[in-house]
Amino acid sequence: MIPFSPPRIDQKIIDEVTDTLRSGWITTGPRTKLFEKKLTAYGGQKATLCVSSGSAGLELMLRWFGVGPGDEVILPAYTYAATANVIIHCGATPVFVDVNKDDMNISVSCIADAITEKTKVIMPVDLGGFPCDYDEINALVKRDDIWEKFNPGSMEQEKLGRILILSDAAHSIGAVYKGRKAGALTDITVYSFHAVKNLTTAEGGAVCLNLPKVFDNEEIYRELNIKSLHGQSKDALAKFQVGNWRYDIQEAGYKYNMTDIQAAMGLVELERYDDDMLPRRKEIFDQYARGFGKHNWFQSPVYETGEKKSSYHAYFLRIRNIDEETRDKIIQNIFQKEVSVNVHYVPLPMMSFYKQMGFDIENYPVSYDNYSREISLPVYYDLIDDQVSKVIDSVISAVEKNAGS
Ligand SMILES: *Cc1c(COP(=O)(O)O)cnc(C)c1O
Repeated sequence: MIPFSPPRIDQKIIDEVTDTLRSGWITTGPRTKLFEKKLTAYGGQKATLCVSSGSAGLELMLRWFGVGPGDEVILPAYTYAATANVIIHCGATPVFVDVNKDDMNISVSCIADAITEKTKVIMPVDLGGFPCDYDEINALVKRDDIWEKFNPGSMEQEKLGRILILSDAAHSIGAVYKGRKAGALTDITVYSFHAVKNLTTAEGGAVCLNLPKVFDNEEIYRELNIKSLHGQSKDALAKFQVGNWRYDIQEAGYKYNMTDIQAAMGLVELERYDDDMLPRRKEIFDQYARGFGKHNWFQSPVYETGEKKSSYHAYFLRIRNIDEETRDKIIQNIFQKEVSVNVHYVPLPMMSFYKQMGFDIENYPVSYDNYSREISLPVYYDLIDDQVSKVIDSVISAVEKNAGS
């Protein structure tokens, strides 16, 4: 069976994790701090805070901005549940909007239509690793009519003076937009380092701070460090210094810190990310494109344009002119050929919980259309060319069996 997305665990990762265990320092410490510095240099943002997961990072930043009951947060209907659940955890209201037909990312015109006096944050998601239209989104929140609608409800909201852009870049570390990397494309960007993501620390995430000049990003980094560790004025590393035992609790903070065991994996992954990981993923994308290219039913994911380059996180194949039921049959046939595939994503308004909140998939026709024709194919470092060919053959035969042409 060809698996869908196993992590790359080789001797280098094992050695670095083992060294960390032997060092005696397994919680947040020197490796986490080093990983943060390297991530800042890599993405070009102003500061980076490592956290226990992408979800934790997103929720931490919503809470930092003072998002709560009565507030609205705009996000795409076509994403993973984490993007919506963190909004709900804060007591705020998720406002789903539809996505683009071509790249499947959040639609800027749908965002504009959804903004109200209650909107506090927009959360674009770089689906599959392809950056959203950040220039348009960044400009939208500064447009006079939209800027005037903004009602600040916290000190940070007052200071920013407009809607915050909090990018869910769970898929897109290393993606490029107009020469800049994801991490520095908008106010705040959150990566995920979950086991299936491009760059993994088993579980983990990072908050990239790139707030405008009215904020001191370094100072916010220090504030978030405390906020992500129970509001404790000194972390374990600072307390470890001789005689430095006394600390204060400044607020009821969270327990969202990254461990050095996680950072050990991340350091190895980041070191070889641009020269080794991304090129291999791109090769697989290109091999799929060549393999399916001549078929009329083939709709390629958008992964490279003049302005944007994906991080090649996930290959979202779409089959033209099929319905959901046919797609499901095609998937069954692919699995019978011992190839694991997936669907990204079932739009959130189709899931019981959000349906119960009153969301209806009828209002998200593009998301539904994308979903109903979508099959995600395996992409990972250790996937070899012969396996890619096997995936291509199994998809072609399954489509031809079920969809005629
Ligand atoms: C994986 C993922 C997240 C959450 O990341 P975790 O690190 O698992 O918390 C958020 N959004 C999207 C779109 C994801 O795919």
